[in-house]
Amino acid sequence: MPKFMEIRDWSPGYLNVTPQHVEIMAECQACGEQRKFDRRSVPASMRQHLISEIEPHLKCAACGAKAGKLRFGSFMEED
Ligand SMILES: [Zn+2]
Repeated sequence: MPKFMEIRDWSPGYLNVTPQHVEIMAECQACGEQRKFDRRSVPASMRQHLISEIEPHLKCAACGAKAGKLRFGSFMEED
């Protein structure tokens, strides 16, 4: 997977105002699993919620914990 460069100390606040060019990485704080987050995977009823309201609903595919954290940034091209 390409290296992910997080925008430090920044959050769009709400998912639906996250610019399309900003990539989202979901990280499990229980096991460290990271995967690209598809904003279309969020149910329509939750797309206008705060990021902090969505995070508790993220379930880790690797360990099953609900300890998700969304990080915002971009993927670097491999050299
Ligand atoms: Zn996990």
